[in-house]
Amino acid sequence: MIPSSFDYMAPATLQEAISLLAAHPEEAKLLAGGHSLIPLLKLRLAAPTYLIDLGRIPDLAYIRENAGRFHIGPMTTHYMLETSGVLQQRLAALPEAAGMIGDVQVRNRGTIGGSLAHADPAADLPAVMQMAEAQLKLVSPAGERLVAANDFFVDLLTTAIRPDELVAEIQLTAPPARTASAYTKMFQKASGFAIVGVAAQVTLGGDGRVCQGARVGVTGVSARAYRATAVEGALTGKPLDDASIAAAAEHASDGVDPLSDLHASGEYRLALARVYTKRALQRALARAQGRTP
Ligand SMILES: Cc1cc2nc3c(=O)[nH]c(=O)nc-3n(C[C@H](O)[C@H](O)[C@H](O)COP(=O)(O)OP(=O)(O)OC[C@H]3O[C@@H](n4cnc5c(N)ncnc54)[C@H](O)[C@@H]3O)c2cc1C
Repeated sequence: MIPSSFDYMAPATLQEAISLLAAHPEEAKLLAGGHSLIPLLKLRLAAPTYLIDLGRIPDLAYIRENAGRFHIGPMTTHYMLETSGVLQQRLAALPEAAGMIGDVQVRNRGTIGGSLAHADPAADLPAVMQMAEAQLKLVSPAGERLVAANDFFVDLLTTAIRPDELVAEIQLTAPPARTASAYTKMFQKASGFAIVGVAAQVTLGGDGRVCQGARVGVTGVSARAYRATAVEGALTGKPLDDASIAAAAEHASDGVDPLSDLHASGEYRLALARVYTKRALQRALARAQGRTP
């Protein structure tokens, strides 16, 4: 189908984009990679009066490390995340998840800002954002605020972004020493979206075995990506091995209200969350112990 007509706007600066959005908060849509928005426009599920293209603004695609924090620009593509050497070394779950998104065209056009703002319950990056305790910098003419990933994802396709705000940056704390992470996923065969995706991180004690800290983020199972805190609690302070990981992973879907659709029943998603949590933790542990890259 052909989208309904709209005015196309191509601001040259972020400030200009913020002003344009603030002038039409209810009638405008931001355009990033377009991989979610353009299908919605064509189906007329979205019919904005104004389309504000972020693609002409320089310097919105970057990955920087500064004072123990990663700063990621909203127009950073999945491909840039996938191939970032610093992320591969320090926060492997993020490039690993980005590398499993869709296909090469999607990864070259799709952006982290667009993916997080869209908040598809089957998207991969929200699991990593939960695991890494990311903060999203939201900006409007009234100022800026940092929102934790756990507060950002509210419900199915729903975030804490106000109509006059845009995602200006994603910030993540660089993991401490003796820490490694991994992402595992069951693909939906046709699109590549996650039926279930799990990002896990473990921090080892000085003996290389006892868990000093664990973090698990899960996507695909419910309306929003979540932290599996019961798994994290079950591992912290315990020696990490296959048995302790398997026992902890049993809590990956505790209290979760699952989605159910033609791809997977709710019960199946809950079971997959447990299986993929175990796999992600095992891989993160192997990385932390230097047994696998
Ligand atoms: C065939 C196909 C397969 C895919 N497979 C996967 C997959 O396996 N895993 C996965 O996670 N994703 C998948 N995707 C989605 C892909 O990751 C998209 O990149 C993502 O959905 C949206 O990013 P985008 O840059 O294209 O955003 P757009 O489509 O341009 O925008 C999406 C939404 O975000 C808003 N927005 C964009 N940027 C900002 C910003 N800076 N601030 C506030 N709001 C903003 C837009 O207004 C719009 O509402 C797939 C997409 C396709 C077409």
